[in-house]
Amino acid sequence: MKNTTDQTGCMVAIDGPAGAGKSTVAKAVADRAGFTYIDTGAMYRAVAYRALQAGLQVGEDDDAIGSMAGELAFEFVTLDGSRQLMVDGEDVSVVIRTPEVGALSSPVSAIGEVREHLVAAQRQMAESVPVVMEGRDIGTVVFPDAQLKIFLTASAQERARRRYEELVAKGEQVTYEDVLAAQRERDDRDRSRELAPLRPADDAVQLDTDGLNAEQVVERIMQFLSDQGEDR
Ligand code: C5P
Repeated sequence: MKNTTDQTGCMVAIDGPAGAGKSTVAKAVADRAGFTYIDTGAMYRAVAYRALQAGLQVGEDDDAIGSMAGELAFEFVTLDGSRQLMVDGEDVSVVIRTPEVGALSSPVSAIGEVREHLVAAQRQMAESVPVVMEGRDIGTVVFPDAQLKIFLTASAQERARRRYEELVAKGEQVTYEDVLAAQRERDDRDRSRELAPLRPADDAVQLDTDGLNAEQVVERIMQFLSDQGEDR
């Protein structure tokens, strides 16, 4: 692998549906490779959170949600060893993880102006440092020239089970059936939307994580990354 200090841009793009394990894996790859980790889903969630706070409705107030997204200042910072998203100086990392914000983030992310502003902010984040960026459209739209593109998948049941366990561990009152239904709705919408739909880039490596633990997935990605470095 090349020396990381002289690199900038998107080194690894990790896309895939909800609950495929993107965050755990992307964070670990970034740590091991010495790259900066960027969670673009958190940014769409933050716009949904701010829209809720402002009483803006998707479908009725799309223009207002779009302009609001353009005025937000996003910054990822490491606090006490974990990555937090600051929006206009407010740490939103916890409030954006509720099922309500998660459900709203999908229709909010289908608003064209929201995507334009967030994609611009995401590209800027990789201008001066090498990044591992996770989302839905990183390999297809945000960084079509990313050095390595991974599309992570897992069965709908396995993904819902993981998300259900995460939410229960946080003390949320949810059922597995509700989590599965909400996930299905979000995935269907993300896959079928007109703008930047969820799909693997033609040159993405598709990794099915059913039956693999996070460590095994990270190992495979590190291997792809080092193979690529050797080909260069
Ligand atoms: O990754 P996460 O589940 O937190 O993303 C929340 C929502 O944000 C997704 O369901 C999707 O609608 C949207 N999203 C997107 N493009 C990205 C990342 C997330 O449209 N790059």
